[in-house]
Amino acid sequence: MYDLLIIGGGPAGLTAAVYAIRKRLNCVLVSPDLGGKALARMHVETMDIHQVINGADLVHRFRDEIEYLDFARILETVVKLERVGKSFAATTSSGTHLEARTVILATGADATRLSAPGADRFFLRGVAYSTVSYAPLYIDKTVALIGDGALALRSGGELAQIVKQLYWVAPSGGELDSPLGRRLRDTAHVTLLKEWEPAAVEGDTFARQLVVRSRSGELRTLGVDAIFVELGLKPHSELVRGWVELDHENRVIVNCSTETNVPGLFAAGDVTNLPAEQVVIAIGEGAKAALNAYEYLIQTEWAAT
Ligand SMILES: Cc1cc2nc3c(=O)[nH]c(=O)nc-3n(C[C@H](O)[C@H](O)[C@H](O)COP(=O)(O)OP(=O)(O)OC[C@H]3O[C@@H](n4cnc5c(N)ncnc54)[C@H](O)[C@@H]3O)c2cc1C
Repeated sequence: MYDLLIIGGGPAGLTAAVYAIRKRLNCVLVSPDLGGKALARMHVETMDIHQVINGADLVHRFRDEIEYLDFARILETVVKLERVGKSFAATTSSGTHLEARTVILATGADATRLSAPGADRFFLRGVAYSTVSYAPLYIDKTVALIGDGALALRSGGELAQIVKQLYWVAPSGGELDSPLGRRLRDTAHVTLLKEWEPAAVEGDTFARQLVVRSRSGELRTLGVDAIFVELGLKPHSELVRGWVELDHENRVIVNCSTETNVPGLFAAGDVTNLPAEQVVIAIGEGAKAALNAYEYLIQTEWAAT
């Protein structure tokens, strides 16, 4: 029986593992990869990367440590997780059975991808999926924003502060009729294309144009420096659906100590309702989760033996 099972090898899971090992916990990390989304990095034509701290570099330091400690990791996916008495049982993709006193779920979330032709070709070469991360690179530029939910609205607020021209492509009305939505609609350099849809992304080595189509079939070609896609995040909470409290978007609900409603089960990073959406935040939440699991073991399991 492990003290701690960590599911997910992104920034949150890797940091949790490093902290748990330092606390001498008998722990194992299960993940098909080590690095998670932190390995994805936007390429920007004119950016001087001298002295820029990037997420991948930060996470590599933790990854190197876990790669070296090969007894503490299994490069597989967890396909089943359940509560058994006061402990937890997990099954990996190869059928390995694991038992642990505590679990940290750090399985992340994926951004909903734009399906228009060209969107995959220019993924992170002008097509961005994280406004929080990349908006500051487009000061005084012309950008498009795609989406009409809460995330898109927030992104619109951030982009409108800094860009020269924002084309906001909103396939439906969504959250546009909110105080921020109304303010954005009234902003001179924001062009709202309500009920238009992305039809294609075009460019050379980088995306240069977004083609949009109206309901009546009219096409417009927008010259842009970047396209921000904010169609929502899909949290990987399938393993705990039905027995752990989730919010309306299926994110695992945690308190500020990374505890879920199930004693001994902690969650950290983008899978939670305190989404990281930034590598450094996921790193911090992962470290917190490991320390809280350690504290839980001291207070409960170990105290009882
Ligand atoms: C395109 C893109 C670019 C970004 N750029 C930046 C940036 O420049 N700077 C920045 O700070 N943030 C950036 N972010 C956000 C940042 O990457 C995330 O906030 C961060 O990676 C979240 O860390 P995490 O550990 O919670 O999840 P993730 O990084 O998503 O890691 C989740 C891990 O869980 C594993 N996993 C999933 N399901 C299972 C399972 N069933 N069993 C075992 N393992 C499983 C996955 O394989 C993965 O290893 C970007 C995000 C995207 C989508």
